[in-house]
Amino acid sequence: MKFETQIIHAGQHPDPTTGAVMVPIYQTSTYKQDGVGKHRGYEYSRTGNPTRAALEACIASLEGGQYGLAFASGMAATDTVLRLLEPGDHVLAGNDIYGGTFRLFDKEYRRYGMEFSYVDTTDTTNVEAGLRGNTRMVWLETPTNPLLNVCDIQAIAEIVHTHNPDTLLVVDNTFATPYLQRPLELGADIVVHSTTKYLGGHSDVVGGAIITHRPPIHGRLAFLQNAAGAVPGPMDCFLVLRGIKTLPVRMDRHAHNATAVANFLDGHPSVARLFYPFHVTHPGVDIARKQMRNGGGMVSFIHKDGAKAAQNLVEHTQIFTLAESLGGAESLIEVPATMTHASTANSPLAVDPGLVRLSVGLEHEVDLIADLERAFSYSSNKTVVSS
Ligand SMILES: *Cc1c(COP(=O)(O)O)cnc(C)c1O
Repeated sequence: MKFETQIIHAGQHPDPTTGAVMVPIYQTSTYKQDGVGKHRGYEYSRTGNPTRAALEACIASLEGGQYGLAFASGMAATDTVLRLLEPGDHVLAGNDIYGGTFRLFDKEYRRYGMEFSYVDTTDTTNVEAGLRGNTRMVWLETPTNPLLNVCDIQAIAEIVHTHNPDTLLVVDNTFATPYLQRPLELGADIVVHSTTKYLGGHSDVVGGAIITHRPPIHGRLAFLQNAAGAVPGPMDCFLVLRGIKTLPVRMDRHAHNATAVANFLDGHPSVARLFYPFHVTHPGVDIARKQMRNGGGMVSFIHKDGAKAAQNLVEHTQIFTLAESLGGAESLIEVPATMTHASTANSPLAVDPGLVRLSVGLEHEVDLIADLERAFSYSSNKTVVSS
């Protein structure tokens, strides 16, 4: 089955009792047992819930994995993956991963004796050089947040598994989504998602997911999902299931608009540097075109006039809403250094204070470009006046 068909039907069958076409919101904590220990697959909703099961089956099938688990947030999914580790284990991570992921590594798991080191994963030789005898996990994002760096998943999977077949390659596939890129097919062991972003797609739900094709890893993760209990409620699962059906249509439009915005920014005098994976100026464009279907909906750039001008810009757009998060129908704009990535200040992962990140939404490209043009003139004027 093609992806577009799979996404609408995988895990989702008309309700056997009523014929309801949409998976019902099974808003129940517990389930009647027909006799002691004789149940119909569900006992308690932390352990399992039919709405959640439909979402888990759907996401697993989209990533080409056998096993999917849904979580209350992307960070809950990330936290559960980290619980596979033991004190003394080493994690090699990309040096511009999501700020919240870095915070969890650095402020929490380091306390328990896990070691973390960060390298520029766009150069595979850094990955090779960074692997240690005790490296149990390699944590990748591609494209990365917020710089949209692109890493070669297949090449890194080969390096990691040659070093040690038991070292787990984890890819946070939030930015690309399985419509654009399927890390398990490229050799990764585990895929993590914040379903809050493109999978949910409507800025109305917080959620996460983990997908793998390795039964022992799934078994351990499923144990942790139930034991630690960071599960999403049935309503949240329903919202992700509803949003996910239109993922291919949305991602094509996000990419169309993002390409138009990137082309506009590329020629703009106030832009010092542009970051968009499918743009010819991107250093990873060849790898991006090899492993991704399109360039996605995220665009970043560095304002030539620095932090103050970047701030003026993001405070003066009218269609782009100043907000954290990404992946919804509406375009968002932010300054990572003081917003999403504030926790990386003074660390090796700190970002340029003049960096602006755009989540390009589904509006008309003409309006989006006009909005940026207007805000740019404001940001440039302000800079002149204040300097
Ligand atoms: C948002 C995000 C997360 C965290 O997900 P939440 O749902 O906010 O907990 C993790 N990784 C990436 C790349 C993200 O964008």
